[in-house]
Amino acid sequence: MNKKENSRRKFIKQNSLLGIGTIVSSGSISSAFAAIKNETGVPAILGGKPVRTESWPKWPRWNPATDEERVLEVLRSGVWSRNKVVTEFENKWAETVGAKRALAVVNGTNAIIAALVQLNVGGGDEVIVSSYTFIASVAAILATGAMPVFVDTNPETFQIDASKIEEKITSRTRAILPVHILGLPAEMYKIMAIAKKHNLIVVEDACQAWLAEIDHKKMGTFGDAGCFSFQNSKNLPIGEGGAIVSDNEEFMDRCYSYHNYGNPYGSSVGVVGAGTIIAGTKLRITEYQAAIGLAQLKRLEEETETRNINATYLKSQIKDIRGITPYKLNENVTRAAFHLFPFRYNKDEFGGLPREKFLKALSAEGVSCSKGYSPLNKMPFLENAFQSKNFQKMYPKKMLDYSSYLERNQCPANDKLCYEEAVWLPQNVLLAGKPDMDEIALAIEKVRKNANEINSKI
Ligand SMILES: *Cc1c(COP(=O)(O)O)cnc(C)c1O
Repeated sequence: MNKKENSRRKFIKQNSLLGIGTIVSSGSISSAFAAIKNETGVPAILGGKPVRTESWPKWPRWNPATDEERVLEVLRSGVWSRNKVVTEFENKWAETVGAKRALAVVNGTNAIIAALVQLNVGGGDEVIVSSYTFIASVAAILATGAMPVFVDTNPETFQIDASKIEEKITSRTRAILPVHILGLPAEMYKIMAIAKKHNLIVVEDACQAWLAEIDHKKMGTFGDAGCFSFQNSKNLPIGEGGAIVSDNEEFMDRCYSYHNYGNPYGSSVGVVGAGTIIAGTKLRITEYQAAIGLAQLKRLEEETETRNINATYLKSQIKDIRGITPYKLNENVTRAAFHLFPFRYNKDEFGGLPREKFLKALSAEGVSCSKGYSPLNKMPFLENAFQSKNFQKMYPKKMLDYSSYLERNQCPANDKLCYEEAVWLPQNVLLAGKPDMDEIALAIEKVRKNANEINSKI
């Protein structure tokens, strides 16, 4: 960092300690802010200097000095298919999240499918799911032959609105698939109470929630099973990979058997050698994937802590900017994973500047951002699934009528979040330092101050 850059950073830091939000919402421009304005006055999208020119921390991380030895050892051994290293990774993951058992599988999507199938969810069943989620949550339900039933989102937390779950329960409801989306925990106490009352299975989609906690208990350990993803972009990246965790040994034995063609394992099919009894598939990961996972796992605790510290600080720095409402954590959350840092954008406070233009302007200032998910509850893949041979045979015609399905699955709060309000910053941004968080706040503020001009010129 050169001297000028260094003093600029110091200046930004001091300025943010004064509280940019306060300065701006009161409408008075302090001399400190005016000085910043000199340097960053013209929005970058209109040709000015960006607030931030440095790049954000790279993802995934890889340290040849500490990470490669184990991987090379595996590669040179020629033992590449599932063996001791995969078992070591599974034991480590189980211990890390505080579950009795973990099973590594090819990806998060198949972790969910396997868990649902081995909990006896299938054709003719309904599975209640968050509407604000990644396509994989819903694809996994459909793959089992079950019907996804969407519950609206609490826009403050971005999580499933647990108060709206019970009204969706029917005689066909078999399971709830809450998603800890963005790495922020869903209301598991309420969800587990509903499940208990109605005798439903709970599979947690914790594919974005590594090490997130409610009352210091890790996500993935509240339900009958918890599922994780280790895909390249995730906070524990292997490239591809996933895991199921549970305390239920008999269930985990069946999952193991299922992930290995249904071959005998533990208690699942009785005596080894009795033949393959479970209808299985193959979901095994390789030894070198596990070696990569073990390397990544060494960093996860510290990185999670850094993301929490930076997210909390960034939230405090932007919460008073009019038109910006950062995420709220559910009650009793002691830690989040922050796969993403979400806030809601209100264009009315930005002179009517549409979210799309806000995102462009913020990106131009050097801040990575996106609008996030689209509503899944009205996408064409559902209609396609309902027209499939399996669905046609498993459900009465009236359940497959697409327009009445759409009617039953409306999620207006989720629509508003997806179409108008949500803004995400990616997790790698939260691995930078405190002055970098100040730059984000400054960039948002800069866009707000220039919103009218930006809106008329782009
Ligand atoms: C990534 C993800 C999945 C699926 O994981 P893959 O490993 O990509 O199959 C499922 N649910 C959520 C919420 C995810 O983010």
